[in-house]
Amino acid sequence: MKVATNFITEINGCKIWIRREDEFGEGIKGNKYRKLKYNILKAKTNNSKGIITFGGAFSNHLFATALAGKINGIKTFGIVRGDEWSYKVKENPTLTNCIDNGMKLLYVSRKIYKQKSSSKFWSLIDFSPKDLYIIPEGGTNELAIRGTSEMLQEEDGIYDSLCCPVGTGGTIAGLIKSSNSNQKVIGYSSLNNQELKNEVNNLVKDNNWDLIDNYTFGGYAKTKPELISFINNFKEKYSIQLDPIYSGKMLFGIFDKIKRGKWIWGKNILAFHTGGLQSIEGFNLRQSQKGLTCISI
Ligand SMILES: *Cc1c(COP(=O)(O)O)cnc(C)c1O
Repeated sequence: MKVATNFITEINGCKIWIRREDEFGEGIKGNKYRKLKYNILKAKTNNSKGIITFGGAFSNHLFATALAGKINGIKTFGIVRGDEWSYKVKENPTLTNCIDNGMKLLYVSRKIYKQKSSSKFWSLIDFSPKDLYIIPEGGTNELAIRGTSEMLQEEDGIYDSLCCPVGTGGTIAGLIKSSNSNQKVIGYSSLNNQELKNEVNNLVKDNNWDLIDNYTFGGYAKTKPELISFINNFKEKYSIQLDPIYSGKMLFGIFDKIKRGKWIWGKNILAFHTGGLQSIEGFNLRQSQKGLTCISI
């Protein structure tokens, strides 16, 4: 099935298009639909008693997994980073939504959460994942990459560069795998993680890609006033809603480099809007608590 592409603008001879993954999916929209698709199928064929996964309190992945579980009649469990959320859950639209969609949440301290890949993790939180299908944080695994490899469409060979935001690397890995070797895949890091380049390298063999890490705006879910104005202006001008954690930072970065004459990856640019719009409500709640400008919706 084809996903819509919108032409946005031409700056300094560079043409920018947006692929509307944010509008694509069944119930779940965006790259989390792609990443969960084959994992849900696998959980079903394994006859798993449920799915368990991990995420922060604003996580699109937790949100999407809860919704996928509801749609597919599969029980879901979410391990939440930060035990303080157990008594603040009503202030958090993402987590409230997870619960409303039937997800059982387990809140763990940041210290314990860090050990989620270790074998003793389950005994630390006194929970057995027996018969549950385990999906890692952010949903990145081999089946997720199979899903994100399906984002490229046949006619996409006309683009010189393919851009996407990067969290755990599953989305860019799919694009790298399905791109032509003469295309460049540009990832915009949404968080400060020195290891990210190595982590993506572990997922792919090709090297027609680059990671840009100077548009993180301070880190995951961190922001600056110029990012908020960019997102609000973008919506006014092009009628496309961007999220502040991923696609907003990516497009800010693309526009900025082109305007400064620093864009070196060809004239025809396709940027993937990976969705994540559910996070805006919680994000705005925090902005208004701090007396800061909100994202217009
Ligand atoms: C999770 C997410 C990403 C990052 O995807 P990775 O595969 O983890 O790199 C990008 N955009 C949105 C909207 C997301 O929810």
